[in-house]
Amino acid sequence: MRPEILYPLFCGIETIKGIGERSHKLAVKLFGDKIVDMLWHLPSGIIDRRYAPKIINAVPGKITTITAKVIEHLPPKTSKQPYKVIMADDTAEMMLIFFKVYADSIKKNLPVGEIRVVSGKTESFNGMLQMSHPDFIGKLSEIDDIKKVETVYPLTAGISNKMLNRWIKQALQRVPVLPEWLNADYLKQQNWQSFNHSLLTAHNPQTYQDLEPSAPSRMRLAYDELLANQLALAIVRQRVKKQAGRQICGDGKLRQKMLQILPFKLTLAQKKVLTEIYADQKAPYRMLRLLQGDVGSGKTIVALFSMLNAVECGLQSAIMAPTEILAKQHLETMRPLCEKLGIRAELLCGKTKAKQRAQILSDLAEGKINILIGTHALFQESVCFKNLAYIVVDEQHRFGVQQRLSLSAKGDKVDILVMTATPIPRTLVLTAYGDMEYSKIDQVPKGRKPVDTRVVPLNKINDVVAGLKRKLDNGTRAYWVCPLVEESEKSDLAAAVERYESLSKIFGNQVGLVHGKMKEKDKDEVMEKFKSGIFKLLVATTVIEVGVNVPEATVMVVEHAERFGLAQLHQLRGRIKRGFEASNCILMYGYPLSETSRERLNIMRDTEDGFLIAEKDLDLRGGGEILGNRQSGFSEFRLADMAIHKNLLLTAYKDAQMILQLDPNLETERGKALRVLLYLFERDDAVKTYISG
Ligand code: ADP
Ligand code: MG
Repeated sequence: MRPEILYPLFCGIETIKGIGERSHKLAVKLFGDKIVDMLWHLPSGIIDRRYAPKIINAVPGKITTITAKVIEHLPPKTSKQPYKVIMADDTAEMMLIFFKVYADSIKKNLPVGEIRVVSGKTESFNGMLQMSHPDFIGKLSEIDDIKKVETVYPLTAGISNKMLNRWIKQALQRVPVLPEWLNADYLKQQNWQSFNHSLLTAHNPQTYQDLEPSAPSRMRLAYDELLANQLALAIVRQRVKKQAGRQICGDGKLRQKMLQILPFKLTLAQKKVLTEIYADQKAPYRMLRLLQGDVGSGKTIVALFSMLNAVECGLQSAIMAPTEILAKQHLETMRPLCEKLGIRAELLCGKTKAKQRAQILSDLAEGKINILIGTHALFQESVCFKNLAYIVVDEQHRFGVQQRLSLSAKGDKVDILVMTATPIPRTLVLTAYGDMEYSKIDQVPKGRKPVDTRVVPLNKINDVVAGLKRKLDNGTRAYWVCPLVEESEKSDLAAAVERYESLSKIFGNQVGLVHGKMKEKDKDEVMEKFKSGIFKLLVATTVIEVGVNVPEATVMVVEHAERFGLAQLHQLRGRIKRGFEASNCILMYGYPLSETSRERLNIMRDTEDGFLIAEKDLDLRGGGEILGNRQSGFSEFRLADMAIHKNLLLTAYKDAQMILQLDPNLETERGKALRVLLYLFERDDAVKTYISG
């Protein structure tokens, strides 16, 4: 249960005065639908309105607050002219300029003969100080509200900074005084203030330094968030570790045979991680290990070997893929190998026909199936195994942290291996996985040819198409990736369809199109045709559909590559790195090209090392977006910025370990405060599932 003290923060934002039906929608998009979401929406800038000289001394071009008397209104003579108002103090006159504004409202706000305070950017015109459309016009009594540092928030169309300031002010007033969850000594050592104080300071920046992620108030808030994250992960980890697990240690016969069947030798890196995995499987506690390896590093084979270890013990294994297409691909890789070993691998997914499904389920319950392949959905259904002992989760960065947590909570004594193809910098492994055991395949099989990556402007598209034509004529298969345009999937689709049509004009019926809006069945059909070579060029809108292994595809064109994240580009390019032929990747960029985008593309051109790319990505834009979506489990931070708060993360990790050592059930005073922290940052699953009371 959420602590009562937090109730006010988890109300809907519609309870804020001024948020109506229309602004609600926009606001939800901007920061979220709860009061607490508003608190995490930190300012991005300030406008200093404290500069308040006499008119004669005012330096034009600055944000200025001026107190003066309204002298005269000069309404426009034609509709094209502006409405002018002359004001003066005891030093000089100045002019206010309004375009297309109701004269009535100007007259009302600036009555002749009265003193008014106006604030806005000034300029000089014919030697006279001038201000167009003041940001503020107020009475002398309101000067304190105007002449100050105005907080500027990240905005969205339809919500003004004034509105946001008013709303957030209300939200801040609702924050109850929360108990201190940080260690007193650490707090002192860092020179940090309380949570409440820090939050207020963060929302009332007075200088540009106050906006920096390194400002004490922001550091404190970031640390709070990181601690909540690390504590939640540590709680889960601690509980899982306490559970007894099976000791999986087969006689090695199947694996020996498999080594003989495979047309290649395992790489040293594969052998190394297998040794680590076997040791973990053999240990008497539950295993929860992360296997990290770049695309093409050979994780699938590693997974298979570790599953065979269980099968050798007469136990069942399962592997879960993020999509049905990928599950099917696992089946295609594994089944022929399994058949040669005399063991049975089956696929169970949404499309499995009822009759076949019934058969598989009953065979599974009787233990006739050794390895089951499926999607995540598989484990939410009531699929009964005879003796499931080992699960491999091939997550390909699609499963979130919460899902992973709930997964490890399920299953009786089941050992789990999570595989990810996403190269994750060390620091981020901590944030997403805590201190989960961790194996890394840091080498790709020998003999792979590097991908020749070129970066070209979009206006060279005709040359690209001509080059593509030569390749296709020689029997090559190629991907053409169209970008996702934010917030307008419809027009993405339109753009992709257009591209598909224009390419079809050149390449005829060799071109296929897949996009996210297609039915799974149709998608599969197109993919099949691409795999079998009926289609030679595949136009795709999303990255998901190209998750399939087509070794013959050795060319990839990415349109508007500057719109993709580094990690995304790396994943995409991985798709053409699978064969042993040389392959080409053409990254086409459009303008405007930001400095960061250019740098990103250059990194792609210069290296194929996923870990290096991930590190650079982190440097370039912080960890928040590393995978470009919230699902990934990396972008779950609202306040912490991985590029800057890396060191805090490590401290938070150690802090969390220490806390649980001293107070495993969070029962001390600090423990209780930490529960509030977990709920505040919505890491409550950990508490609900694992902590009693
Ligand atoms: P990942 O899942 O890590 O992206 P895969 O397991 O799909 O990579 O392997 C990519 C390709 O490399 C597959 O065709 C696989 O058969 C092959 N492969 C795996 N291990 C080796 C190895 N040790 N030597 C040569 N080829 C390998
Ligand atoms: Mg794979």
